[in-house]
Amino acid sequence: MACIDNDVKEPHMSAISPIRTVISPGRYVQGPGAISRLGEFLAPIGDTPLIVADDAVWGFVGHDVTSSLKTVGLPVTRETFRGIPSAREINRLVAVIKSTNANVVVAVGGGSTIDAVKASGFLAGIRWVTVPTVASTDAPTSALAVVYTEEGAFEEYRFFPRNPDLVLVDSQIIANAPAAFLAAGVGDALATWLEARATAASNSLTMAGGLPTLTGTALARLSWDVLWDNALPALDAVRDHLVTPAVEKVIEANTLLSGMGFESGGLAAAHAIHNGLTAVPQTHGLAHGQKVNIGSLTQLVLEGAPTGDIRDFIEFTTRVGLPTTLTEVGLTVESSQELALVASAATEKGETIHAMPFDVRPADVVSALKSIERFSRRVREEASLPVPTPYVAAH
Ligand SMILES: [Zn+2]
Repeated sequence: MACIDNDVKEPHMSAISPIRTVISPGRYVQGPGAISRLGEFLAPIGDTPLIVADDAVWGFVGHDVTSSLKTVGLPVTRETFRGIPSAREINRLVAVIKSTNANVVVAVGGGSTIDAVKASGFLAGIRWVTVPTVASTDAPTSALAVVYTEEGAFEEYRFFPRNPDLVLVDSQIIANAPAAFLAAGVGDALATWLEARATAASNSLTMAGGLPTLTGTALARLSWDVLWDNALPALDAVRDHLVTPAVEKVIEANTLLSGMGFESGGLAAAHAIHNGLTAVPQTHGLAHGQKVNIGSLTQLVLEGAPTGDIRDFIEFTTRVGLPTTLTEVGLTVESSQELALVASAATEKGETIHAMPFDVRPADVVSALKSIERFSRRVREEASLPVPTPYVAAH
């Protein structure tokens, strides 16, 4: 996060005047069958859309997207997304936008497609829209993108002057996806409150480029409460591809509440530790929200949170299906070299861990990470929850 220009907001810069600010998408739409109304909501934003989706996603939404756009007389042009939101893929999409004369780019898919589209729309100087087909991250609503290396390691945050003009979520499409995606989204969204709470306590700058507002912090808290009440029944419903009120609430919490909550409430240790975890290949292939859950648990340890709170968090997130041990993210307490790399990346200058209300050193992160292994195993055993299964990255 080194470069700053007029269009790029850098958080955590103490020289910026102390404003408080909230940013949000222009419109949020959610409901079963909402995809059939994409054309209606897209038409006022641009008359030459470029749809970006990978082939698997296009296989199940292509028909509905096409008929929705045709209904309102919009042309249908689709470009394939190639898998990783890297600088190279973003630049490739910018070239496609220019060659098609598109004036709005529409991401249909998961967080990687969405991040690549936001970054390419910004660089091409056009508007952008997100249509998440999974509720696995809070990427769809925010005005930033996470850019990865070709190998899948965290490279940088890119900040944009605008959020998506439209976020459209079809709840039935979310419920048709494997429940593991929704579970990962719960992991990402639970971190939001822990991080917003820490950012409010330290009065640090948020990703929105100002101090936290009551609004951002409250949305983060609401996301947490909604998830503790609804995540387990929602996950069961989604296993049968059902849309219930609990599913609708969890989709909104994972997507909109968590998105606005993290962006205008602030990130802290959990996401910095997530970013640190991406620095070691052992964790590659895990979902964002899975690694974030290790970050949340580690943040609670760093905070010296009440033992009961940590215990509850381990029990609940294990039931959700999220990792709560190093074992489940491909590491062990003996992985000292890897853990040192994780801690060093997590505490880099400019990382959000410095929004914690106390100094965090790499050695603190290593100790906290190592400590969760034995404690989680104990909590899980006492709660009759399964022992952790080792994660092995594909390569
Ligand atoms: Zn996240």
